[in-house]
Amino acid sequence: IEHLQFRDVSYEYTPGKSALEEVSFSVKMGEVVGIVGPSGSGKSTLVQLLLRLREPAEGTYLVNGLAAQELRRSDWRKLVAYVPQMPQLVFGTVRENIRFYREELTDDDIVLAAQRAHVHEDILRLSDGYDTVVGLRSASISGGQAQRICLARAFAANPKVVILDEPTSALDVKSEGLVQKSLEALGGEAIVFLVAHRLTTLTVCDRVMVIKDGRLEGFETTEELFRSN
Ligand code: ADP
Ligand code: ADP
Repeated sequence: IEHLQFRDVSYEYTPGKSALEEVSFSVKMGEVVGIVGPSGSGKSTLVQLLLRLREPAEGTYLVNGLAAQELRRSDWRKLVAYVPQMPQLVFGTVRENIRFYREELTDDDIVLAAQRAHVHEDILRLSDGYDTVVGLRSASISGGQAQRICLARAFAANPKVVILDEPTSALDVKSEGLVQKSLEALGGEAIVFLVAHRLTTLTVCDRVMVIKDGRLEGFETTEELFRSN
């Protein structure tokens, strides 16, 4: 994927009440894009459109200049990774959770992804070793470990679009650098959207979208944003 583009995209859940209104932007491969805005401003709706869980009511979503709808959902899913705010591993072992997400992943793939995302050391430090962690009951691991595992899982299949919803939510302050390290590990080979609830998260972004009342109020570089506020 070279670039993603929204052209006058609108979405409404209830007729006559826009959740997103005429949103236009273009992002290119390698960019790390922050998404900020008050609760109810449309951030989750934007994310759902980016993921193609919903299709625009009006306007166009373009991938490399072609309408996103032209891409089969199953192909699209392989290109996209999403990590929720408070990732939860819900059943069985960690390994089963990862396989449920990506059936074809082997333990080796997961370990490699964990190394690339720099979560391997953290996991090792937190347990007796990665093999132990993948075999652990999901219910027995901490929120921070779950977040690390979900980051590794998301990166394991070489996604081209990565969407992280406040990835530091389950991490303690000294682990926040982990996000930066994991993004560096992607090596500019993905477009990253980062829904930010904490100001510190924005420092890893190249540009930041400011969403208010369903509109894109600004899309400046992080430097410009910090300078003007
Ligand atoms: P956040 O502000 O952290 O993004 P919200 O609490 O606004 O999360 O929304 C959580 C979930 O509830 C989302 O999946 C969203 O789509 C859904 N949601 C939000 N507002 C409404 C609503 N008015 N009616 C139905 N579902 C909603
Ligand atoms: P944010 O993620 O910034 O909190 P959302 O995208 O969840 O904002 O919500 C944008 C608007 O759409 C809000 O007015 C919210 O109440 C409404 N909304 C979100 N999800 C739903 C839903 N599933 N059904 C109806 N309205 C919704």
